[in-house]
Amino acid sequence: MYTNSSLREHSKANVVYYYDNDIAGFEYGNTHDMKPYRIQLAHNAILATGLFDKLEIRRPHRASFKTMTSFHDEDYIRFLDDVNPSNISSYRGHDRYDVTVGGDCPVFDGLYDFCSISCGGSLNSAVVLNTGQADIAINWMGGLHHAKKSKASGFCYTNDIVIAILELLKLHDRVLYVDIDVHHGDGVEEAFLTTDRVMTVSFHHYTGTYFPGTGNSNKVGIGEGKLYSVNVPLKQGITDDQYGSIYKTVMAKVMERYDPSVIVLQCGADSLNGDYLGVFNLSVKGHGECVDFLRSYNKPLMLLGGGGYTPTIVARCWTNETAIAVGVDLPAELPYDILDDHLHADNIDNSFNYEIKKFYRNYNNDKKLGELQTKVLNNLNKLPHVPSVQMQPMPDNNYEELAEMRNAMREEADPDVTLPTILTDQITHHDSDFYDSERAGDDRRNESNAKRANRRSKRLTK
Ligand SMILES: [Zn+2]
Repeated sequence: MYTNSSLREHSKANVVYYYDNDIAGFEYGNTHDMKPYRIQLAHNAILATGLFDKLEIRRPHRASFKTMTSFHDEDYIRFLDDVNPSNISSYRGHDRYDVTVGGDCPVFDGLYDFCSISCGGSLNSAVVLNTGQADIAINWMGGLHHAKKSKASGFCYTNDIVIAILELLKLHDRVLYVDIDVHHGDGVEEAFLTTDRVMTVSFHHYTGTYFPGTGNSNKVGIGEGKLYSVNVPLKQGITDDQYGSIYKTVMAKVMERYDPSVIVLQCGADSLNGDYLGVFNLSVKGHGECVDFLRSYNKPLMLLGGGGYTPTIVARCWTNETAIAVGVDLPAELPYDILDDHLHADNIDNSFNYEIKKFYRNYNNDKKLGELQTKVLNNLNKLPHVPSVQMQPMPDNNYEELAEMRNAMREEADPDVTLPTILTDQITHHDSDFYDSERAGDDRRNESNAKRANRRSKRLTK
């Protein structure tokens, strides 16, 4: 049992955290590696460790068609809205969207809702950073960095990150995007390839064939965006020390040369040792230090989820990074009940820095990493010192919608929640709808959704 006194606070930030309990109810398919209930596991751990008391927890306003088409093609979003497992065979030419029956990006019930929740959380995060309501905004339901303008890719259908950055660009002249997922952040890089108003920096495993196959260090952007795409390709088995060293050196140079006014960090947890699909040897602590390093610059910061395919590792990673965001140290172990049978299924212990079970052979040597680092730093040194950019006037096309959203967010931030009861009950019933303003009205639909989601998450671990 953890109480607030278990958390040692060392620095403060105003943190807004987005979560929608419905997220756990979506299923890509029983055998699919992407399991949205991992976000609920993280959320339950965040509640159980007492972190909730230091966050403003909000349910995001779902992204509208108009919001999603701020980046995506209308035909593609219309397709996502219409398609379902029963009617997909009647769509002619749907192959071009790369949404199929089975496969990496399967059609599933509620697909459009899933996308609008994920995008809504990131757009809302951008709005609270833009309006100064938050120093740090968190959306573990987002970070789906592979989605393209008019097609799905790598378990991602809509690119919440691009949508959020477009929103940040209404206020900020330079946005920094950083990606520590094991996979290259190709969808975001591609979207901003030709502009110097967004710098994208991706640290990832690269062989040329490892998904998505892109992200070698020669790819630096095009035209006005030349040198504003930064790629740090790494080999299998990299350790905390090696990763931390190149990450901090490169990011310190990025901060010096680019001086962004806001940072978006995709915290894909598949770069951790023990991930079902990943091949790195990072620990929860090493991964978290990457978050802490950027937080130390005290710029508006958005933390997003992403990959992560061993659910209990994802949960401890994002719980630790939520703690880093709010500036507290967590106890060394997770409350055991929270991960219960999931821990057993994933065959790992309950400490935050779980013991590494299978160390991947490390193909990164310090000499090669040093050469890569030098190459990346040389490119960054070619940048003009803090580029001056022509600010565009803030478009007001979305502002009717945003005003509506702000009102909705104010309502959803209703502090009338029963957190002490959650603590007293030691989270034995996972009713994480507690922050939902609709709950006060005895919303049975939400309660049944939560129960269904919990049943599904149990079933999926069998
Ligand atoms: Zn990934």
